[in-house]
Amino acid sequence: MKKSCTLLFFVVLVLSACNLPAPTAPVASKALPAETEASQTATQVPTAMPETGSAVLLFGIGMHIEPQGTTHQGFQSGKGDYAQPEYFNRQVNDITTVTEMVAAHGGRMTIQAQSPFTDVAIASGSHILADLAADGHEIALHFHEDAHLGKNSSALPVEQWCDVMKEEIALVKQASGVESIRYWSGGNLYLDVFEAAVCAGLSVNSDWKNPKTQTTDLALVGLHPWRPAGGTDGTDLSQIAVHIPSGLVIFLPEGLYDQNNFASMRRSEAAGGDEAYFEYLKQSLLASVAAAEPGKVNVFHFTVHPAEFRGSPQQPFAVIEKFLSEVVDPLVASGYVQWVTFSEMADASAAWQQAHPGLDPIH
Ligand SMILES: [Zn+2]
Repeated sequence: MKKSCTLLFFVVLVLSACNLPAPTAPVASKALPAETEASQTATQVPTAMPETGSAVLLFGIGMHIEPQGTTHQGFQSGKGDYAQPEYFNRQVNDITTVTEMVAAHGGRMTIQAQSPFTDVAIASGSHILADLAADGHEIALHFHEDAHLGKNSSALPVEQWCDVMKEEIALVKQASGVESIRYWSGGNLYLDVFEAAVCAGLSVNSDWKNPKTQTTDLALVGLHPWRPAGGTDGTDLSQIAVHIPSGLVIFLPEGLYDQNNFASMRRSEAAGGDEAYFEYLKQSLLASVAAAEPGKVNVFHFTVHPAEFRGSPQQPFAVIEKFLSEVVDPLVASGYVQWVTFSEMADASAAWQQAHPGLDPIH
């Protein structure tokens, strides 16, 4: 109780100081001693060392490399074109800047690539993905189904999905020199996506968002990874949101977000632009730290794209740097948050599930 009270104290302090919404049920329902609340002034993030046995939040940042140009399968996709060296090089520079920025803060990203980026990297002799792998970043697959299977992708058989996923994975491996690709994002509206992915050798998934509405059902939000019973067509979430011990894929929820448009809100100027988005990320991260449970696997992550949040040319990506310095670094230094890759989140969850047979990891 004392451990959770210490954590609760700092988090409630932060939330009340910033006038943020209270965290969800288990933490918010605990009482805070009145005199400690009154005697403290505002703090940005909790900085005291948590006691041994406190909950840790596994934290990571993913990057989606989008299909821009003609994909390996011959479909046209996106507004840009990696086949134009200037465009490709600019994307590579942005990827390098952001990953080096994260690495300088002790983090490793999960870089998710697909064709035609991989095709162009191979053809031009670019070492970008190999360099990222050498720096400890996880190399993974981002799979836009329309760009690799066409507009009718949801109606195609599992075998075809498996073959094309394998084709894309082979390109990621060739471009990066990485032998094992485990994580993917994409294929969100295909009911059999998990079967296809397992067939292609993949085992870790997240970043579920309905590409038509750009929203994420809050049934898929939370802190604890699980093994989905099946896929979804976007409306029926009864299989994907349920854990079955025999599931072959581990799904990583993104953390405690309370708005269903968290995955797309950064693109909306009406939502307040980059600053507002990172303020919302901060609130969600702090709420997740507050609600993390000792003895369970707790995860939080978010996604960036190569040129996203570039901001002013004088201080490119300053909004990311600010978030890392002011929010993430103190949480890592104090032990509440630990940098990991996405497959490392899945490994932690698999180990927990093995040690707790018969327990539902979600609840
Ligand atoms: Zn994408």
